[in-house]
This record gives sequence, structure tokens and C-alpha cells, in this order.
Amino acid sequence: MTHTNGTYHGASGALFEIHDLHVSVEGREILRGFNLVVGHGEVHALMGRNGSGKSTLAYALMGHPKYLVTQGSVRLEGENILALRPDDRAKLGMFLAFQNPIAIPGVGTGNFLRAAVKAVRGTESINALAFRKELAERMQHLQIDPSFATRALNEGAVRIVSDGINLVHQQQDRMGILLITHYQRILNYVRPDKVHVMARGRIVESGGAELVQQLESEGYDPILQRLGIEDTEEATSHGR
Ligand code: ADP
Ligand code: MG
Repeated sequence: MTHTNGTYHGASGALFEIHDLHVSVEGREILRGFNLVVGHGEVHALMGRNGSGKSTLAYALMGHPKYLVTQGSVRLEGENILALRPDDRAKLGMFLAFQNPIAIPGVGTGNFLRAAVKAVRGTESINALAFRKELAERMQHLQIDPSFATRALNEGAVRIVSDGINLVHQQQDRMGILLITHYQRILNYVRPDKVHVMARGRIVESGGAELVQQLESEGYDPILQRLGIEDTEEATSHGR
């Protein structure tokens, strides 16, 4: 056990340590011996095909009741957080942020919604002006900033999330970041110290930022084939 700057770090001194984590969902084991150590101020990217278990890890770390930890430990500054409720994990400084969906430049959010409403209501044509009025009212009711209606669909989402990550990383230089993503794109904006590839519930390859470029040009196949994992898609995913 070490103490630096008055902070307890546990045996290894690492900020965040996942050891031999096994997680089951609805009786099926999804995470099968997941290990990861994130140091203070480090940015780790965790990548992997659909169904490799990325979302399962994120939910299990925050304590989602559907994700049952059957084995292993997760330590934040030495303290095993697995016995804690999600709000107590949050109070210790764990925070799960969601990445926004893919942007569609050129498709205005208002126009997109109008097309969706048209599709749902059928043949009845919708006057653009009347729709704008209806949309404005609904947005006001939901307290959504009116500017969202004129923006392109999800435009700037990845950029805004990336800027946010970079900003807090600069300001909180001891904070560790685990960026779980299947978008290579976000890694153009946030430079990770370490990159991990996940398959079948555990990390199968780790490297530096150069691994992102390798994955971009070669995909996951070479890594998976080397490991004897031949299927092109992993087990059926729920699209998360
Ligand atoms: P990824 O985020 O890497 O795509 P997931 O963690 O979403 O992977 O999924 C891993 C596996 O766990 C998949 O086979 C998926 O079907 C299963 N799974 C994940 N969440 C649930 C759930 N809530 N209910 C049932 N199966 C789930
Ligand atoms: Mg997912």
C-alpha cells in the first residue's frame, strides 16, 4: 500500500484495476477473465467487434443489476467497488459517459423528424410551416434548445464528446479515462496512451496509439485469425 499526495493507491499504486473479471448476463457468461490496469492520467481505448463484450464491461463496472459479476475484482484507488451501489461508485469518482450516434451532415434534424412523422402518419402531407410550429412547441415542452431543430442530425457529436474528454483530461491530470468504442473516428480526436482489442469477453491484444491505424487499415481479422477466432461476427449482439 502506498500513499502519494494523500491519496490511497492500493497495492499496485494504479488508479483503476480490473482483475480476472467474469460477468454473466441472463445466465450466459460474457466477460471471461477480463484484466486491465489504468494509471493516473492515462487514456486507454478499448475496441472490439460487436458482441465482444464492450458494453457488458461498461455496465458491469457501473453496477447495472442485469450484469452479474461472478468472479474477479475491480479496484478504484485500491478499493474494491463491486460491492458498492452505482451511486456510491459515482461518488468515488466513477463516471460513465455515452458517446453520441453517427452524424449525418446535410440532413437537418427538423427535416429528419418531419420525414419520420410523415412516414408514421402515412399519406397525409405535412405543411412545412405547420410542422415547424408543432416541433417548436414539442421541443419547448421537453425543454430542448430550439437550435437543435436547425442543426444537422447528430452533427458534431463525436467532436463535442472528444473535446470534452480532452478538456477534462487537461484539467484533471490524474483522472484515468477508459474509452470504450467501436468508432475508430473518435480516436482521431482523442489520443490514447494504450489501445486494447477485445474479443470473446477478454483483451486479446494491447498496444499503443499505432494499433488504431493498424485496425483501421487491416480490421480485426488478422488479430482474430492469429488467435484462432474465425467467425466474422461474434455472438449475436443487441446492437450496443
Ligand atoms: P459489444 O458492446 O462489444 O458489442 P456487448 O457487451 O453488447 O458487446 O455484447 C456481448 C454479448 O453479450 C452479446 O452476445 C450480447 O448478445 C450479450 N448481451 C449483452 N447485453 C445483454 C443483455 N442485456 N441481455 C442479453 N444478452 C446480452
Ligand atoms: Mg456495445
